[in-house]
Amino acid sequence: MSAHQKLYEGKAKILYTTDDPEIVLTHFKDDATAFNAQKRGQISGKGEINCAIATKLFQLLEAEGIGTHFIDQPAPNQMLVKRVRILPLEVVVRNIAAGSLCQQTGLPVGKVLPKPLVEFYFKNDALGDPLLTRDRLLLLELATPEQLSQLNSQALRINEILIAFFNKCGITLVDFKLEFGVTSTQQLLLADEISPDSCRLWNQAETDPDKRVMDKDRFRRDLGNVEDAYQQVLERVLGTLK
Ligand code: 5GP
Repeated sequence: MSAHQKLYEGKAKILYTTDDPEIVLTHFKDDATAFNAQKRGQISGKGEINCAIATKLFQLLEAEGIGTHFIDQPAPNQMLVKRVRILPLEVVVRNIAAGSLCQQTGLPVGKVLPKPLVEFYFKNDALGDPLLTRDRLLLLELATPEQLSQLNSQALRINEILIAFFNKCGITLVDFKLEFGVTSTQQLLLADEISPDSCRLWNQAETDPDKRVMDKDRFRRDLGNVEDAYQQVLERVLGTLK
């Protein structure tokens, strides 16, 4: 399938049209940004690594009955996906306290939460992606009440599947961000990517709070060895059977 016009360029991906109006070609970039793009850089090989990890995780989730936008991975850094209208929401699931949860609540980093926490953020760079309440989300009509309850249950189910899978990889799934989209027939699908850019992943073989980090926090916090960490996640993800 040949690529046509550029539809959209985001911080980590470029979207192109294809011969089929219902299918989009996604090109994963090596560019890395953090803190609402105030910090910028490159992670060499990231595009291919994230594309391969996301492919594996989408296939795993599809096999477990979760609808995703994934169709195929035609090249190492390319993914063919179903065209969707992305809901302007970041759905974050947390199992262990880290990041903004600690900054905003004072909970200590590493505290295991009594049950997974599902949060919704407004995907809006100009506003700095603020945390939403349920009523604000509905007020802004970012999703319908039905979609909201579907998003909540899907996020929790995805969390269960991913926790079990990453455990087999010797990796603790601390938290992650999901994005969902709606097809032309109003089907809600998991979209975007799941990768070390969008998850906090801790190596279970390490107890040191810096050494255990295998995700974008290495870039955000200047911990070094970012490429090695992403590569290690890839090897474990591809080397682990369902
Ligand atoms: P926090 O709210 O603690 O900064 O992030 C929670 C989780 O969601 C982390 O795994 C983080 O990587 C992910 N996350 C939050 N916002 C974004 C975002 O704008 N882009 C990406 N790729 N991940 C995000």
